[in-house]
Amino acid sequence: MRSTRTIDRTSPVAIWKEEDMIGGERVKAMVAILRTKGCWWSKSGGCSMCGYNVESTDVSVDDLKAQLAKLLDRYDGEPMLKVYTSGSFLDENEVPSTIKGELFDSFPRVRRFLIESRPEFVVESTIDSLPKGRSAIALGLESADDDVLDRSVRKGFHLNDYQRAADVLASGSVPLRTYLLLKPPYLTEARAIKDTTASIEVARRTSETISINPLNVQSHTLVEALWRRGDYRPPWLWSLVEVLRCTAGKGGPRILSTPSGGGTPRGVHNCGKCDRKILDAVERFSYTQDVRELDGLECGCRHEWEGLLLYQDRMRTAVDLDRHLGSDQER
Ligand code: SF4
Ligand SMILES: [Zn+2]
Repeated sequence: MRSTRTIDRTSPVAIWKEEDMIGGERVKAMVAILRTKGCWWSKSGGCSMCGYNVESTDVSVDDLKAQLAKLLDRYDGEPMLKVYTSGSFLDENEVPSTIKGELFDSFPRVRRFLIESRPEFVVESTIDSLPKGRSAIALGLESADDDVLDRSVRKGFHLNDYQRAADVLASGSVPLRTYLLLKPPYLTEARAIKDTTASIEVARRTSETISINPLNVQSHTLVEALWRRGDYRPPWLWSLVEVLRCTAGKGGPRILSTPSGGGTPRGVHNCGKCDRKILDAVERFSYTQDVRELDGLECGCRHEWEGLLLYQDRMRTAVDLDRHLGSDQER
């Protein structure tokens, strides 16, 4: 059925405030998701877990200017401004140069703009147009394994595309934040942990920050269809803790995770009883990088997760065993 929801082209999809880091300093940040024409790749089917394109529409330059004015209204002098588009900020079709220039000029107090892009738009000319010393780029690599990128994420690019973009950023001294996706579809829980852990080691060479994004089931996606019939379960929080533990203390980039939908059936979750305390520990770890934040997080459901790591691989299946065996209808 067609949605009857009307979209206001002159309003950003969302604006909110949070905290983040610039270098080693914890700072206040404003986050804005601009409404644009949307990610070009989503129009060719897009990534298996991405439902962002529902917010995209045919916006004009004037619409984008009106959205910019709303950002200015909400701005309270935060040193960090994250401007996302549910696509690529650097894609001229999504955000024309005039809007980019106006945006950067409108926030002289911002010390760091963080913007997202697919790697194909990271070229010398787009990077040269960013405010020098005040910009960082986030690339959604998701996995450093080309097979996972092709068959599971349907990302539409490969590791070498990411590496080319990372080289361009390094030449322009623009810090890189790499997003990795914990547990794309069709991977068992154990394989997902290995995939993200190995991907961190690759991204570590080029990134200032690595953000681990446990998959959050979004509406109208392939992953949602799998999840509805019990063929996909979002990652366990224990898996996230395991990934952070394996990679902590090695120096180099900051490793963080701010899970969307954490503790809900669509997001990274455990048994429900221990979710909050683990999410809090992950948040503390993301700021301090101290692996001791992840100590003492015991709960009975850890045994269930350990068993799953073993049996899913033995049974050669990535489906949600609890749902298929009928013991977990709710979560
Ligand atoms: S995840 Fe990013 S690259 Fe993939 S379809 Fe969504 S917006 Fe485009
Ligand atoms: Zn638990």
